[in-house]
Amino acid sequence: MDKYQQSQKNQLFKTDTHDPYRSQRFEGSAICPQCDSVYHAGNWTWKSPENTVIHDAQTVTCPACRRIDDNMPAGTLTLSGSFLLNHRNEIINLIENTEKKEKADHALERIIKMTDSGDDLIVTTTGIHLASRLGHALEAAYNGDSDYQYGDDEYVLTVSWKRDE
Ligand SMILES: [Zn+2]
Repeated sequence: MDKYQQSQKNQLFKTDTHDPYRSQRFEGSAICPQCDSVYHAGNWTWKSPENTVIHDAQTVTCPACRRIDDNMPAGTLTLSGSFLLNHRNEIINLIENTEKKEKADHALERIIKMTDSGDDLIVTTTGIHLASRLGHALEAAYNGDSDYQYGDDEYVLTVSWKRDE
């Protein structure tokens, strides 16, 4: 492993352990009663034919459902600008499709909610990776200006995206 890979690995490790909602690690397996995701070997994943039969699984609410219950987003994306007002449905479709793709592979990356705030649209997420991916998807599809601010101590990402006609 070279220095770059090592630092990437440390970064990933750091990111996961920084999430206060994921700090709860435990032995054995679990199933979330709210979304049916499955915890095994330190990871939460969707139920699949390979992990459907889990012996002695505990019932534990997964970090994503806990964030949704608490309304404590890890990622917050704010969209603004007149382009949004004129392409709202198209943009919401892009956001929903991007979530669908991310969520399929990563059970803990979900949208909490989309809220209007004046002319802005605010999208909150259970994971910082989804917030980042949404920002990049908007840029790839529509250009515009975006900004990514990672919290220093907490597991949070604030993304803003803006485009005027
Ligand atoms: Zn859950």
